[in-house]
Amino acid sequence: MLAARPIARLDNKRRAVLDPRKRQFAKSQWQEQSYEHAMNFYNLPPTGDIALEQFEEWGIARLKVLAELESCQFRNRTAEETSTYMKPILDKYLRLDQNSSRSTEHELQRKRDHYSHWTLRLAFSATEELRKRFARLETQLFRLRLNQNDARERREFIQSLNMSWETVSDDEKARLLDELKSATGVYKNEEESWFKVDWENVPELVEQRKVLLKMGKAFVHMREQTSMVVGEFSRQLEAGLELAARALPRMDEDNRLSPILTHLSKSFASPDSQYNADASSISDTTVITANMIDALASHFPLCMQSLHRELRKNSHLKHFARLQYTLFLKGIGLDMNECIVFWRKSFKLMTDDKFKKEYLYNIRHAYGDVGGDSNRRGRGYTPYSCQKLITDVPSSGQSHGCPYRWFSPDNLMGLLQATGVSDREVLKSVKEDVTKTRYHIACNRVFEYQHRNEIKKVKDNSLWPQSELDTITHPNTYFKRSFLLKNLNKFQNGDIGVDGPSQDSQG
Ligand code: SF4
Repeated sequence: MLAARPIARLDNKRRAVLDPRKRQFAKSQWQEQSYEHAMNFYNLPPTGDIALEQFEEWGIARLKVLAELESCQFRNRTAEETSTYMKPILDKYLRLDQNSSRSTEHELQRKRDHYSHWTLRLAFSATEELRKRFARLETQLFRLRLNQNDARERREFIQSLNMSWETVSDDEKARLLDELKSATGVYKNEEESWFKVDWENVPELVEQRKVLLKMGKAFVHMREQTSMVVGEFSRQLEAGLELAARALPRMDEDNRLSPILTHLSKSFASPDSQYNADASSISDTTVITANMIDALASHFPLCMQSLHRELRKNSHLKHFARLQYTLFLKGIGLDMNECIVFWRKSFKLMTDDKFKKEYLYNIRHAYGDVGGDSNRRGRGYTPYSCQKLITDVPSSGQSHGCPYRWFSPDNLMGLLQATGVSDREVLKSVKEDVTKTRYHIACNRVFEYQHRNEIKKVKDNSLWPQSELDTITHPNTYFKRSFLLKNLNKFQNGDIGVDGPSQDSQG
């Protein structure tokens, strides 16, 4: 699997000094696997050839799916609600068509599923906490997919697993008739199948008193088969993660993979999101000017609203806050000249000379107008994601970063109330999210509260694909989604054009 094709990112010097005997992938089989079933127990690691970009891209796509699954859990969605919510997300990021479908993509989808699972297995085996979380979410994903499979494919897949379950013979069933009935209450007729397994393999069923326990064996009714398969999947995955953890130190020798794995594991702590100009900027419909920022600020997430408020209060922001805010404004579609006007007017207590000497360069640098190679070859820097703002610790006296992460509970509540979030239940849930370190969930909760009517309208009238209402993990996505939702009617009527929104549509 990891015998990646050499690409530009490979450091040839480093590669040359690696001891070939220690290169754990030197004996790769270079063999493509074929996938008979859509579902996979992921017992065998992939052995085929894969480009490094795919290794990362597929891992990120799977991570997105797991993060959305976790957010369903945090929001207490029922199994049915989770299944409905996840369907378009799975179709978009990790589609798995069944054999009965007419898809011609089976092999590629299954390969992607297989490889991405193993990529994340490596990335999340480093600590016990990560292993537990990964195993829990992968098990949830497995269960969701198993239940979505049609009955025939599910049966064929389960048969292919060759589980060590013993079918209870007719004689034994007849002998145990009364005990099976009284222990489980499900024995209705003699045609039904029962399995015998070691009781340790079905702890959930034992706990829920759904089995008959006898001589160290659990007698399980066929209708509990899915639970048994899911339990087995979870057990094997947990054992596999322990093994992967032991292999990790050797992985450090491969400097192609370790940065990717580190990035992925960080993204699991707080979901990362690549900046996507289409999902951030409104410049395709609206020309944004410096004068519009005050009105547009009502669509900003708390991290940017907080900076905007401070800027208006003190007519100044410190370096990192300025950088965070400048990149965000660039991301929403404010061009460099307008951005310079915005900062110049905002720093109204400062002389022109001081502004030019001390501040102008940094703004131009953020846009890539000045600066060398480090400045992404003239494009400047991309706006920061939630992950960066949640994980980068601001030093004392600095105001950048994510308020859900870095503000004291009282300051956070005060800021939320000042920005119009007064509902007690929402504030209580936000507090709870923050206590449990679910910062981006708290932010999404506030977004959903503030846009509840618009989201309902979009859903009721199927105006947007469900996947465009997924969990927000980038401040610029927050802005664009808010702007589009709050101006839904105007967009539908074609009232927002190149001259920008009218004053009342900005609020
Ligand atoms: Fe900003 Fe993201 Fe924090 Fe929300 S979660 S306030 S968008 S950094």
